[in-house]
Amino acid sequence: MIPYGKQSISNDDVESVIDVLKSDFLTQGPVVPQFELEISKYVGATYAVAVNSATSALHIACLSLGVNKNSVVWISAISFVASSNCALYCGATVDFVDIDKDTINISPETLVKKIKYNYENNLPLPDVLIVVHMAGQSCDMKPIHDLAQEYKFKIIEDASHAIGASYYGKPVGSCIYSDITVFSFHPVKIITTGEGGIAVTNDENIYTKMNLYRSHGVTRDERLMSGCDGPWYYEQIELGFNYRMTEMQAALGLSQVKSLNKFVSQRNKIAIKYDAQLHSTKITLPVTQQYSKPSWHLYVIQLNADKLNREDVFTKLREKDVGVNVHYRPIYLNPYYQSLGFKKGLCPNSEEYYSSCISIPLYHGMPEKEQDAVIYAVNEACA
Ligand SMILES: *Cc1c(COP(=O)(O)O)cnc(C)c1O
Repeated sequence: MIPYGKQSISNDDVESVIDVLKSDFLTQGPVVPQFELEISKYVGATYAVAVNSATSALHIACLSLGVNKNSVVWISAISFVASSNCALYCGATVDFVDIDKDTINISPETLVKKIKYNYENNLPLPDVLIVVHMAGQSCDMKPIHDLAQEYKFKIIEDASHAIGASYYGKPVGSCIYSDITVFSFHPVKIITTGEGGIAVTNDENIYTKMNLYRSHGVTRDERLMSGCDGPWYYEQIELGFNYRMTEMQAALGLSQVKSLNKFVSQRNKIAIKYDAQLHSTKITLPVTQQYSKPSWHLYVIQLNADKLNREDVFTKLREKDVGVNVHYRPIYLNPYYQSLGFKKGLCPNSEEYYSSCISIPLYHGMPEKEQDAVIYAVNEACA
């Protein structure tokens, strides 16, 4: 089966992990800060906090923005469940915003309408909005940021798919239009640390809080402590977690960053080849927006529902050993969210997208033969 995604590990990657294993520190050593510095430089943010997953990064991001049981958090409806679970971990009330069908990202128009409607009808407005750069293409952040200014909410960018992408020439993660951006280093993502994630920000206060939440809420920083009994002294000042990244993970990440531009350009090259050679008129291909340079993590085709049956096409492709997948079902259609009271029909575009989308294989190092096999199989299945 040709996988829909896969990591790409070089000998240098392996060597750098082995070096750490032979060193004094397996955790809380020098490599995690080096990795944080490298990522923050790459994405153009001032601060970075590396953790054991993007899910943890989303959780500490929410906590550091003060999300609690009185908060309202809105999330783009099409994403992995972690994008909204993080708000539930904090006890918040969540709600979902529909996507734009061309970008699969949150629709700024729908967001405006929902905010205005809730504002005029005395319904809850968001304290925090979590946007998702689906498949590796940035959301249109400027209008979203303008709304955040006007209606006083914070923004977290879930950029789990999108390291290496840019928006109006600025790297995703520069946090120009948001408070915090989160990246995932799960093996199917663009670079990997095995499990791992990072949260970046330009705000020193947010950084300090995320740092605390990552590691038990414990600090040795005298500026944060109430006193000091001696050189052994530390204080717990928040209820934090152990979300730390290991030195082995950071070493792998540090080495992977060196290949990041190469990974992105090869993924994008394969996407351009798909754009050119997938010629069924019964499918819609991803559209690169004028404001965006994507780093395609997923290549999602959308079937014309009148002409093609998704399950048929999906099954045919799997039978041809093409490891297709579906990303994603609207989060609120999962039974857990249904049990919270969410109903079908909440986000019509997202539901329509879900019934028509198929992700086809795309990864760095994908042999040309596999690319051609995917193109052939898709053209045949969608003819
Ligand atoms: C992968 C992913 C996550 C979770 O990442 P982990 O590192 O596996 O915790 C969150 N959001 C999106 C959009 C993802 O694709």
